[in-house]
Amino acid sequence: MKEKILIVEDNPQNMKLYEMVLSAKGYTLLKATDGEEALGVAIRKRPDLILMDIRLPGMNGLEVTRKLRENSAFSHTPIIAITAYAMKGDKERAIEAGCNAYLSKPFNIHELTGMIAEMLLPRQKDNV
Ligand code: MN
Repeated sequence: MKEKILIVEDNPQNMKLYEMVLSAKGYTLLKATDGEEALGVAIRKRPDLILMDIRLPGMNGLEVTRKLRENSAFSHTPIIAITAYAMKGDKERAIEAGCNAYLSKPFNIHELTGMIAEMLLPRQKDNV
């Protein structure tokens, strides 16, 4: 079975795009539209990778990431931060919060799928 990816995204159109592209790659998808929901789904379903929109209503993606990193179950889960309007220092803040990688829109969708595949690779090797 392919890996489980949790998509945290409050914009329905973006969510639809990620869903379409990632389900075509065969991943099992989990979804959350805000930070609280993301934490709940992550704890219940243990995703293999998390796609984290930074701008979310309420708790933002960086806060969600910090909370996840406090939990040892998620200390090594790859988290890719995504932001719509890149501002100076965004990437540094994302990495500091515990994200492994950072993409700012607009990005090529192949950049995203390539990054995901690469980040899931070590896990696949471990499972052999
Ligand atoms: Mn957003």
